[in-house]
Amino acid sequence: MTRPQDVLLKIEAVGICGSDLHPYTCGGIGSLRVSYPWILGHECAATVLASGPGVKKLKVGQRVAVDPLVFLWRVRSVPGGRAHTCRHQQFLAAFGQVPGALVEQLVLPEECCFPIPDSMTFPQAVATEPLAIGLYSHRLAQPKPGAKIGILGSGPIGLCVLLACRAAGKYGIYMTDLLEERLAIARQCGADWTGNPRREDVVALSASRNPWDWILLFECAGQQETLDQAVDLLKPGGTLLMIGIPQLDRISFKADPLRAKSCACKTCVARMSVLSLLSTW
Ligand SMILES: [Zn+2]
Repeated sequence: MTRPQDVLLKIEAVGICGSDLHPYTCGGIGSLRVSYPWILGHECAATVLASGPGVKKLKVGQRVAVDPLVFLWRVRSVPGGRAHTCRHQQFLAAFGQVPGALVEQLVLPEECCFPIPDSMTFPQAVATEPLAIGLYSHRLAQPKPGAKIGILGSGPIGLCVLLACRAAGKYGIYMTDLLEERLAIARQCGADWTGNPRREDVVALSASRNPWDWILLFECAGQQETLDQAVDLLKPGGTLLMIGIPQLDRISFKADPLRAKSCACKTCVARMSVLSLLSTW
């Protein structure tokens, strides 16, 4: 441990995020390239093994969920509470920032560690990180009760957005994915109907059932194809939130339908403190 506020953690569980796969399969994400050796893994849960003299809240033996946004004391004064967009941020496993969690032990500041209840397993604690993205996405969008919502991409992030929406209110929710098993989970978790672009034209199918109804779309696949579908599906005046991280550094939009529909786009940088999630647990 190098700083008095540091704790030594025994890593108990690590999730593999889609953003871990980008460096593995194609050497990085957009302009952020990775040179190996480099340690990946930013979704983790741990037990505190030792603590520095400046550690105030955590005790040895405590079980914690980890917020991968490190060095929070440097970014606390960011206007508007947007610590996740601060240029001084250090993110666990982002190349050149902080080596990742796919290790047996890791040193992190106390402020990144949040005690979890005994009833919560370590894999559940790992899931708080993507679940925080779902909650943050819903908070950014603030859909009105009863709104028709589309979630394009039913991987872990899309499912977390679904859970956040389900917990917040009653909406009509349409989800897509290329994998039937993911769509089955989406239906189990409360999606009202689902579509598989590999089997059907989801835009035409949606138009026949719910013409011009999707006031809010969460793009959770990071694919050009799903962005195009989102633009076609959106109701005029609707909002598109881009949550999926594209493998490439550039994406494009069909300008004509966006202009004609006067739709708005928001990005959701997929980094959010787990603090807000755990405080509502
Ligand atoms: Zn992640």
